[in-house]
Amino acid sequence: AAPTKKRYSITLLPGDGIGPEVVSVARNVLKLTGSLEGIEFSFQEMPMGGAALDLVGVPLPDETLSAARQADAVLLGAIGGYKWDNNEKHLKPETGLLQIRAGLNVFANLRPAVVLPQLVDASTLKREVAEGVDIMVVRELTGGIYFGKQRGFGTNEDGHEFGYNTEVYAANEVDRIARVAFETARKRRGKLCSVDKANVLEASMLWRKRVIAMAAEYPDVELSHMYVDNAAMQLVRNPKQFDTIVTNNMFGDILSDEASMITGSIGMLPSASLGASGPGLFEPIHGSAPDIAGQDKANPLATVLSAALLLKYGLGEENAAKRVENAVLNTLNKGFRTGDIYSAGAKLVGCKEMGEEVLKSLD
Ligand code: ATP
Ligand code: MG
Repeated sequence: AAPTKKRYSITLLPGDGIGPEVVSVARNVLKLTGSLEGIEFSFQEMPMGGAALDLVGVPLPDETLSAARQADAVLLGAIGGYKWDNNEKHLKPETGLLQIRAGLNVFANLRPAVVLPQLVDASTLKREVAEGVDIMVVRELTGGIYFGKQRGFGTNEDGHEFGYNTEVYAANEVDRIARVAFETARKRRGKLCSVDKANVLEASMLWRKRVIAMAAEYPDVELSHMYVDNAAMQLVRNPKQFDTIVTNNMFGDILSDEASMITGSIGMLPSASLGASGPGLFEPIHGSAPDIAGQDKANPLATVLSAALLLKYGLGEENAAKRVENAVLNTLNKGFRTGDIYSAGAKLVGCKEMGEEVLKSLD
């Protein structure tokens, strides 16, 4: 009998601005990769963000969320744009993003920051510092100070207005993000650095205690700890010392942006958001770039690399993921560049042509 084909259903959320352009490229790349690997994808495109607001009046329609929940993985383009900037707060396209993260319960946000040899000069750091950087930041996404229930404004005894927030992490919340981080480090170079502020904050003290306890299950992963102020400094001083970083919601927000600037190429950076079970959400870190939308200028590679993360971390299809990553590297090696990563002597291409070149480089 012929071997049974593997089948996966993928929900595509193209969204706004350049979202549809870059998602269309990634879809074609997934399709061809599937046919080379004996995998069949069925794609379902659903409206989200400003596109959904225009269509049905909400940024995340129920049908979109339920389609996403039933899929094996979700690939998102980008959300938002000038057009919707003056809406009522509850009608902002970006609200849809928070809703889908909550709706899929994706508590772990993975953001790789890789300085590719071909794009070393885009880095904000000196060549010798930037060369070879390959970091994965694992950020806790659904807890911590951004979600602390005790929050608000008040007036103190001296009549001064104040604002306050609270950071709470329960042991099980730390454990589940730590597990994703250890597993991620194991799939990479086996080094994990946990970033906290355990010298000052109780939530960080618990964080460190739980991470240390879990390390016993991962003797093959080399664990270290760093205070967040030092980590911020080390990231620009000697980023090559890091493999996988795990940290809380707020520190991860800051450090993942810092790490992305080390690479200097926003159009190249993917992300993955994972839950305990159920589909993961994969999206480029860039926004909808309304300034270049509809002009065939967008760099689709961040979304193509998000599709590679989808294959690796969302479906466990590591060979297929490697194929996609290699196709991106080969396309760069051949000299093709979109405007955002262009340098003298390269071949300037648009979004569509870049997509076609990636397809040609897939083998
Ligand atoms: P958001 O609030 O949605 O994150 P933003 O205003 O922070 O959006 P982006 O939409 O990411 O930022 O765009 C920032 C700049 O980077 C813009 O000038 C945009 O044109 C450029 N840019 C972003 N993504 C890409 C891409 N894929 N290809 C080319 N240029 C891009
Ligand atoms: Mg932004």
